[in-house]
Amino acid sequence: MSVAMSLGTDQILAAAEAYAVELAAKAESLDRGAVFDKEILDEGAALGFVKLIFDENLNLDLSRMPLVHDITERIASVYPPVAMELGVMRLVSYLLARYARPAVKDRWLRATIEGQAYGSFALTEPHAGTDLRGMSTVARRDGDNYILTGEKCWVGFAPVASYAIVLSKLESSERDAPTIALVVDMSSTGAVGETGPELSGFRGLSNGVLRFENVVVPAANALQVDGFAGMMDGLNMARIDAASYACGLLRAALEVSVERAATRTAFGKRIGDLPSIQIKLGRMRAAYHTARELAMRATETYMEGNGGDQDIISIAKMTASDLAREHTDQAMQIFGASGLIAYSRVERLHRDAKATQIFDGTSEIHETMLGRRLVNAFSKDGHGGSYMPSWSINQPADNITGA
Ligand SMILES: Cc1cc2nc3c(=O)[nH]c(=O)nc-3n(C[C@H](O)[C@H](O)[C@H](O)COP(=O)(O)OP(=O)(O)OC[C@H]3O[C@@H](n4cnc5c(N)ncnc54)[C@H](O)[C@@H]3O)c2cc1C
Repeated sequence: MSVAMSLGTDQILAAAEAYAVELAAKAESLDRGAVFDKEILDEGAALGFVKLIFDENLNLDLSRMPLVHDITERIASVYPPVAMELGVMRLVSYLLARYARPAVKDRWLRATIEGQAYGSFALTEPHAGTDLRGMSTVARRDGDNYILTGEKCWVGFAPVASYAIVLSKLESSERDAPTIALVVDMSSTGAVGETGPELSGFRGLSNGVLRFENVVVPAANALQVDGFAGMMDGLNMARIDAASYACGLLRAALEVSVERAATRTAFGKRIGDLPSIQIKLGRMRAAYHTARELAMRATETYMEGNGGDQDIISIAKMTASDLAREHTDQAMQIFGASGLIAYSRVERLHRDAKATQIFDGTSEIHETMLGRRLVNAFSKDGHGGSYMPSWSINQPADNITGA
């Protein structure tokens, strides 16, 4: 039993607080050196931060997702790469628990929850990011196996993954070919994981490339769901996490900005007495609360099952990440020249906020999907559905979805 299983909500939050304080002390050096810190992840897993979406018997239980948001936001406020790594650990655990056959689940689920095995969630390819239908990874059936060939990039845990859940086309690389999601053992012949380019944001995140050259994958390793639909279900969880990271960045921007405004003087008074600084702080405060409310609403829809409300999740992810970028920029401005000090907290927040507008669907693809669904709904019923229409993940998949 993990520590979290035996603790109440307040105790879990206290454990997360202590964890965040410990992480905050290391954050600058991890960011500077772009260091992947396995020890801190082990500790997060031991505290039960991955297990939070399961009950004692390792059955899925999403009722504690608001707590997942709170913990993720707090960790992201000090060092978002670790919040994201714990998020990917929960995401692959979720997919295994919901869609994998018992033998595959037995092999990887507990090990992932306890931090003994890392699993990747692999969608993006060098020539297919937002346009996922353009991917060229293909699985061809050969007796009791699939033979997998292709390449994925920008993938979390790629250099250290024990296994990867890989979205692939079936039999053909045609744009509209059927899709499948395969749990691939990364120790298989022909499977390779490598570190990717050094990033300017989310530095220290374990991320990179996965290559598959005629990898033999048992047919029983396929998730029991249409590949695209299953991965989109998981992606919705990742998008809610992305909104939570953005909330953490906004909260941190507010913390550092208020402190600076109250302690820095100009013209004989605190800069926080200047209306222009007060307006910045007021808008930043409103932005944080807006992002948090939206993230919580998205979380609630996910807890209801079936992958949540795609529109509300898109609104939360897009709005929170755009607000994080805007207000971490304002935070730098409040700091003046000091805001530009390389690797300082406020400068790190700004770089990390940029990344949140890119992964889990860029802001452009979320606004496009939201607008397109509204127009399509109007064409169908003459009024565009309810103010915030919801679509089930079982609807025919969009051609563009944005990993
Ligand atoms: C830190 C980090 C972690 C990541 N982790 C993972 C992971 O674990 N697994 C994984 O599979 N992927 C991961 N990714 C990849 C990420 O999901 C993609 O980068 C993202 O989906 C965008 O794809 P792209 O980079 O190829 O950009 P492109 O698709 O090339 O987009 C380039 C630009 O064109 C715009 N654009 C493209 N198409 C449209 C359109 N139809 N309408 C409007 N605008 C459009 C985009 O908004 C963007 O501004 C990660 C990325 C980062 C930065």
